[in-house]
Amino acid sequence: MNNASTELKHFMSGLRKRNPGEAEFHQAVEEVAMSLMPFILDHEKYYKARILERLTEPDRIIIFRVCWEDDLGNLRVNRGYRVQFSNCIGPYKGGLRFHPSVSLSILKFLGFEQIFKNSLTTLPLGGGKGGANFNPKGKSDREVMRFCQSFMTELTRHIGADIDIPAGDIGVGAREIGYLYGQFKRLNNRHTGAITGKGFDYGGSLMRPEATGYGCVYMMREALSHEGDDLENKSCLVSGSGNVAQFCAEKLIQLGARVLTMSDSGGTIYDPDGINEDKLMWIKELKNSRRGRIVEYAKQFPSAEYLEGKRPWAIPANLAFPCATQNEIEADDAKALISNSCRAVCEGANMPSTKEAIDLLQAAKVTFVPGKAANAGGVAVSGLEMTQNSMRIHWSAEEVDQRLLGIMQNIHRKCVKYGNDGDYIDYVKGANVAAFSKIADTMLAYGVI
Ligand code: NDP
Repeated sequence: MNNASTELKHFMSGLRKRNPGEAEFHQAVEEVAMSLMPFILDHEKYYKARILERLTEPDRIIIFRVCWEDDLGNLRVNRGYRVQFSNCIGPYKGGLRFHPSVSLSILKFLGFEQIFKNSLTTLPLGGGKGGANFNPKGKSDREVMRFCQSFMTELTRHIGADIDIPAGDIGVGAREIGYLYGQFKRLNNRHTGAITGKGFDYGGSLMRPEATGYGCVYMMREALSHEGDDLENKSCLVSGSGNVAQFCAEKLIQLGARVLTMSDSGGTIYDPDGINEDKLMWIKELKNSRRGRIVEYAKQFPSAEYLEGKRPWAIPANLAFPCATQNEIEADDAKALISNSCRAVCEGANMPSTKEAIDLLQAAKVTFVPGKAANAGGVAVSGLEMTQNSMRIHWSAEEVDQRLLGIMQNIHRKCVKYGNDGDYIDYVKGANVAAFSKIADTMLAYGVI
């Protein structure tokens, strides 16, 4: 049998040919394939069954027109997508992203990552992702509602509580989920758990808004504890100021760490005094109600500096939590983190670090926990929301939080089990191998389908 690097080259060249121009998808697959190839070559049954080739081809992709009317009566047209990647271990599950940058490549990378992430949670969830190249920024509530209704009018025929269960992601928060679920319910005349992230009053789970950010901090705490350390007084860089970033910052503050930064696509605020609970509450109101820009923080709190067009990574700190978007830590950012002695990076966002950045961080022995492990808390609590919907009950916030913590600890254990390279835990390898084994064995059980 060929060696791993020859096999990887051959596999990636085929994947690039089959999926031309899909840079983000290539990047996500390569990261997984690099750590899996030696494992696959050691297990001939996976190699012979072409598991990786099959797993990188989505079950199906749905692309559709979304036509809606803006407040001035102009007709607008966007493109909607749902990538149903794999329902091997459960119904398709993954968020919807509304952002002008949405493309098939981005949704395929996200859907592919989601298969592995969902497997790690131990819940019976397959992988999918969807969205549209629609920009909710600057739109009125009624425009967003009309868009969501039109989007769901098509999507509804492809989803369902046992088929495919979308949730939120960038640009899809509580408001959008309300409009999407309202339309789903109206079209189907049924109240089922076909979407997660719902408001508590109509079937949502307590702690779902908090889950991704809190889970990311729980994961960092586990990683530090494995090295005999904790979060107390650690200075932290957080990027983003949306759902994941807000609750990541909140849990860090609660656990005694100091949050120095948050950001949006305009720039970064750096507050050397630390963002405390009151300041964070102000940010939540700014972002969630007024839908304002993070620059306003520096006007409100004179202790802070606004770094226009900049990311947080050049600021000296102990820990980094990228919670905004893909490829926001590039090689130069990684070098800055390393030269400032940052000791750990825990990814709240999906694929926020480029391959070059990951290589540099790992070579410098910076603890690096990839998104598919570190941000799995969100989909895990979505899975718990589905369970509560099926059982027609609500668990208390404490109960959901305990389950979330248990799931994150379990993911950490699996990463250590499969990624322990002696003096360094390779969380990328650990997460990929642990997630893959379960999916691959299930695919073997199904035979050739
Ligand atoms: P939100 O839309 O709530 O927030 C996104 C944040 O990232 C905003 O501050 C936004 O700034 C910033 N951002 C978006 N695009 C860019 C960009 N190109 N450059 C710089 N900043 C940018 O999204 P979420 O918090 O839900 O998601 C953040 C990340 O976490 C995504 O990678 C998502 O896939 C991932 N994730 C989310 C989960 C969830 O439960 N919500 C679960 C697991 C992963 P601006 O307002 O200026 O656009």
